[in-house]
Amino acid sequence: MSSVNTAIQLITREQAEKGAAAKGGTCSPALAKGPWDYDLAEALAGVPAYGPGASSADPAPASTPRQGQLPDEYKLASDAELGERIKAAKATLGDRAVILGHFYQRDEVIQYADFVGDSFQLANAALTRPEAEAIIFCGVHFMAETADILSTPEQAVILPNLAAGCSMADMADADSVEECWEQLEEIFGTEPDAGGRVPVIPVTYMNSSAALKAFCGEHGGIVCTSSNARTVLEWAFQRGQRVLFFPDQHLGRNTAKALGVSLDQMPMWNPRKDLGGNDQQALLDSRVILWHGFCSVHKRFSVAQIEKARADFPGVQVIVHPECPMEVVDAADSAGSTDFIKKAIAAATGPTTFAIGTEINMVNRLAAEYPQHTIFCLDPVICPCSTMYRIHPGYLAWVLEELVAGRVVNRITVDHNVQANARTALERMLAARP
Ligand code: SF4
Repeated sequence: MSSVNTAIQLITREQAEKGAAAKGGTCSPALAKGPWDYDLAEALAGVPAYGPGASSADPAPASTPRQGQLPDEYKLASDAELGERIKAAKATLGDRAVILGHFYQRDEVIQYADFVGDSFQLANAALTRPEAEAIIFCGVHFMAETADILSTPEQAVILPNLAAGCSMADMADADSVEECWEQLEEIFGTEPDAGGRVPVIPVTYMNSSAALKAFCGEHGGIVCTSSNARTVLEWAFQRGQRVLFFPDQHLGRNTAKALGVSLDQMPMWNPRKDLGGNDQQALLDSRVILWHGFCSVHKRFSVAQIEKARADFPGVQVIVHPECPMEVVDAADSAGSTDFIKKAIAAATGPTTFAIGTEINMVNRLAAEYPQHTIFCLDPVICPCSTMYRIHPGYLAWVLEELVAGRVVNRITVDHNVQANARTALERMLAARP
């Protein structure tokens, strides 16, 4: 199996046998432990954390949900036993439950998924199963929220480990965005210009809380994904003089740059500073105000890694995700969403070498799916998305067996008013045309 979990176990075993770091290595030896160790560590320390992996160094907000302790029977069960229990529970539940697995999820979980895709594809996939009473989202918190917004009120959306948040989404909280908005209104006012364009249009990346999607819905704004960010920015520029883009500075910068916006018209908004750390003129001259957020997985990719890949594999095709820093996107052959990366590899006719700049679980899966190509991750150190990593088959077995027993655990529910406004922003995105 190509899974990261297996690779990590092999590396740590090799390290133990050799008494020295194995080739490549992992970003954290703690990855070989069960995620429940972090549930316990958090409970003891009283401080929420993302756990081992690429975002473990980011500070988790105090409001980050914590997972209660998983019953011992799931922690102590072997992989084979958990597999049998998951399959048995799935068979008992039948059409009553649908399991969704994100591209970045580990294979140990993905093997039980009814649908695999990016966050928005998965929320839409759930719409094709209206008979399902439970939607088990093996992804992270904002994805489960989006599924709850788009599903029927009778359907329960379940996140197997409540601590599976997203460090990027957590970098823009509703209070900080409200505060930013008030400051921008003081500078720009609220009146449209002669062309009918309002001073600012808020645009949030799908990787944000439901509260921020609702904020956009309420203030004439819109949601975007990494697949449609360009179309969405064009939509916003037709209606506004400038855009406030959150939470991912890199997706915002890469997309706006491709549209011809100059870097000096893209000030960064640091929520911890007055006026986001800008002077008033810089904001008045801006076209896109970028929130100071980023993905710790994609931030790891560098131009040096691309140069090394090109030196080691002449003719290599480098494809990166637009959450990567601008220099990395500029140095790559192409950049696009997870769907774009998948399609680019599927479209290659002859054997090709690909160096991919996105999460390791997805890269490993592509390598297994397309053995005729050489596919590897640009980052030689195995460092998966910390938060996605917190979904382990033990939690999946637990939520499924609880459903079989008639109990819904770890339900993610978005408040009714928030749902309505967030849906408005999502509907604008679906209707936006290039
Ligand atoms: S890969 Fe990055 S953006 Fe995606 S869930 Fe993980 S931390 Fe969030």
